[in-house]
Amino acid sequence: VSARRRKIVAGNWKMNKTVPEALALVRELRGTVAAVGDVVEVVVAPTFLALQPLHVALEGAPLQLAAQNCHWESSGAFTGEVSAPMLAELGCAYVIVGHSERRQLFGETDESVNKKARAVLAAGMKPILCVGETLAEREANQTLDVVERQVRGGLAGFEAKDVATFVLAYEPVWAIGTGRNATSAQAQEVHAAIRGLLGRLYDGETAGRVRIQYGGSVKPDNAAELLGQPDIDGALVGGASLKAGDFAAIIKAAT
Ligand code: PGA
Repeated sequence: VSARRRKIVAGNWKMNKTVPEALALVRELRGTVAAVGDVVEVVVAPTFLALQPLHVALEGAPLQLAAQNCHWESSGAFTGEVSAPMLAELGCAYVIVGHSERRQLFGETDESVNKKARAVLAAGMKPILCVGETLAEREANQTLDVVERQVRGGLAGFEAKDVATFVLAYEPVWAIGTGRNATSAQAQEVHAAIRGLLGRLYDGETAGRVRIQYGGSVKPDNAAELLGQPDIDGALVGGASLKAGDFAAIIKAAT
């Protein structure tokens, strides 16, 4: 089953990199992306501002663009927001929805994440739907319950054929930006549980097709072990995606 899932490594740049810096970073990654070819799908998620310049600079290079967020309405009086159709028009293939920073700092709920995912699909893109427990939840043995609730909430109302196009990202909150990654065994346990849940909610075929990334302090020195787990289909990388050398090493670890 896993052989059918192409690995996907995505760099979530968060609120980093000016447009010139974004262009320079992508230029440095070109060689690596070309070298891994079809084996690994490589995605970068810059700020909204850099999407258009990167789209132009990429000229069909096999590097996909993702936005870090979007609104669920397609247009209207929503000051400061950006819609999914606007992002699709700039060449985005993916939109990250439900990142834990957005849940914690900007009030996102499973319901808003679900609406955003719907808008992303309607605009012809794919959601990268993030889930993950806090440290307190892990210590209280609630990890699998929390992740199940977030997966069910985020996917509510979608049919199997839509769900198959999703990328899920398991990102334990306590591992994000802390330098403390989940062990490969901890991550694999949750990834397997998510895939089992998808099998129960939909069917085995769908569960076997959905790619599940791990995120949270992925670095060149832990990437190969994490990516070697049977249910870990890629990485969502924050800090280490800001340096071309580190991100390139993580991409190579996925081959
Ligand atoms: P990190 O961030 O790699 O810096 O821990 C991961 C993420 O937030 O997606």
